[in-house]
Amino acid sequence: MSVMVPSKTPAQITSGRQALDTALYQLGQAADHLGLGDGLRTMLGTPRRSLTVSVPVRRADGHMDVVQGYRVQHNVSRGPAKGGLRFHPGTDIHQVTALAMGMTWKCALADIPYGGAKGGVAVDPATLDIRELERLTRRYVNEILPMMGPDNDIPSPDVGTDERTMAWILDAYSVNAGHALPGVVTGAAPGDSPGQAGATSRGVQIAALSALGRSPEGATVAVQGFGKVGALTAQYLADAGCKVVAVSDLSGAVYAPGGLDLAGLRAWVAESGHVLGYRHADALGHDELFELDVDVLVPAALEGAITEANAPRVRARLVVEGANGPTTPEADEILTANGTTVVPDILANAGGVIVSYLEWVQVMQAYSWSVEQAERRMRDLMAGTYAEVTTLAARRGLTLRQAAHVIAVGRVAEAHQTRALLP
Ligand code: NAD
Repeated sequence: MSVMVPSKTPAQITSGRQALDTALYQLGQAADHLGLGDGLRTMLGTPRRSLTVSVPVRRADGHMDVVQGYRVQHNVSRGPAKGGLRFHPGTDIHQVTALAMGMTWKCALADIPYGGAKGGVAVDPATLDIRELERLTRRYVNEILPMMGPDNDIPSPDVGTDERTMAWILDAYSVNAGHALPGVVTGAAPGDSPGQAGATSRGVQIAALSALGRSPEGATVAVQGFGKVGALTAQYLADAGCKVVAVSDLSGAVYAPGGLDLAGLRAWVAESGHVLGYRHADALGHDELFELDVDVLVPAALEGAITEANAPRVRARLVVEGANGPTTPEADEILTANGTTVVPDILANAGGVIVSYLEWVQVMQAYSWSVEQAERRMRDLMAGTYAEVTTLAARRGLTLRQAAHVIAVGRVAEAHQTRALLP
């Protein structure tokens, strides 16, 4: 069966400016709660360093394209900047800034010694062959080289990039340095610890099961986005006893009320490139997935997925944000008013950056831990952070998002104040 897969981003994806407005709104709420002054508030709302680069790419037929690339370090008060690299046609400087800000809060919330960064290249990787992708990645590294380094700024995979991309970055940076510097990226080599996206999904599973507050046996789940994070989150929740009834990707959604055969679906996606057309499930529209009467909804695609337009129809009791920034502030209010608990991105999907940090510590020390040790440490950090957020939320009457931001923004503000402003 052949299915038309739309090449354009659906209209529900907000623009980069909207993503940044959402991030600034969430910062503003936390700053109000913490009583931060205007100067500090402005500082926390402004990236320390932003770089926009033009990346020439030699295509297979010999002609040259030029695409825009970005790297933003939002904050480095608590440690080197850390954050993913995204290849997506909708990427712009506002989106990358919003995502970098989210990384600052995520690292501070988990209390790992990193600041926040993000990178992006405005390109659809599906339109490039592997050699073109490699040339693009290596050239992007050359363009942003002054910002990078194991003690400075450490990329990891995000939408449209993976461990192969990270391996090219590692090599391009090391070639420039004249010696191998494996600590310049994380997520380049699967196997040593659970891959970064695997760790993100494991963290989403831990957050979802904690928030569920009952046995996962038979709890129904819908997952938007069947990429690196979404596919494994679906699998891990199914492994825990949940019934994953619907998943979607850019092509549309598939639904099986009795539970999807995820291994079969993955095989179909590997063959066809998309979920739509999987013959053991019914087709659903993008919006219909959000309207399913399920226990848990996991947005694991892009930002701006749940807006004031579709939030009133969300029936899930729990929204666990695998994606970064999937819920707009207006939607957040609607969900809260309707009794839906939202486990926010900076808490729910922190497993990836926690494992990245553990991987980086091992590389920097040239000393390996066992996979079990790393996984146990990640589970402890996730569980501790979850308990801290839910305790503060209950004590102060805040949503989980507000409480998570109060803790994270408070830690970064404290780091600024302790170090004072130079000069
Ligand atoms: P990916 O590119 O591997 O997968 C994205 C998936 O979303 C694809 O299946 C795509 O088809 C689907 N998608 C895109 N738009 C959609 C739409 N409108 N409706 C339904 N599906 C849609 O990306 P990923 O690495 O899995 O990242 C997904 C989200 O998780 C992003 O927000 C990313 O920032 C966040 N995240 C990723 C990591 C990581 O380690 N990769 C860590 C933390 C957070």
